[in-house]
Amino acid sequence: MIEEPAAERLVRHLAHRGIRDPRVLAAIRDVPRQAFVPGNCARDAWLDEALPLGSGQTVSQPYVVALMTEALELEASSKVLEVGTGSGYQAAVISRIAPQVFTIEILPVLAESACERLARLGYCTVRCRQGDGAEGWPEEAPFEAIVVTAAPKRVPQALVDQLAVGGRLCVPVGEDPSDQRLLLFVKRPDGGLDGHALAPVRFVPMTGAAP
Ligand code: SAH
Repeated sequence: MIEEPAAERLVRHLAHRGIRDPRVLAAIRDVPRQAFVPGNCARDAWLDEALPLGSGQTVSQPYVVALMTEALELEASSKVLEVGTGSGYQAAVISRIAPQVFTIEILPVLAESACERLARLGYCTVRCRQGDGAEGWPEEAPFEAIVVTAAPKRVPQALVDQLAVGGRLCVPVGEDPSDQRLLLFVKRPDGGLDGHALAPVRFVPMTGAAP
């Protein structure tokens, strides 16, 4: 019997867990996660597990990457902001669906290595910046979608301001990793947010000037 390729097995698992958007499943299948994790973790790259990426940070679990990306309901014209580049993996996944991805990482060593990795692997529509993502990327606003992959105590106001009307903001909120919720907000024409919780999650806390 021929063994099912690891990428196909992961995608089948994610579909079984409820990920439906075929674009998200195809993106997870096509982005080589082993290129985003340390060499000693490469053999686990296609498991549905968070993996260390250095500097005490982690590459999110594929299910959580898929859940967040699906929740953004990306369109072919969406301009997307990611806060927390980490390895660059989620930015790469999003770039398979949306044409413009802007990603910010606070730790210089990670910002530099992710930027170099994304360029080397050919993800040339992802623009990287080192800085405090709680301030967003005002020169490129508004964004149709914003995804935050480190947990603030409260949603940073700059990100709300930089979200387009009708845009979607997906963010894990709660400093204590044992009590965090992944929240999804949609911006109303009056500038307010409608939101609901998607899942309990465990992200590293957002650092910097985050509220
Ligand atoms: N999305 C990443 C995983 C991110 S882990 C991936 O796919 O690999 C969370 C990242 O957020 C860490 O790299 C951490 O350094 C970064 N981070 C924490 N606070 C931040 C802030 N205020 N601005 C930007 N990045 C931040």
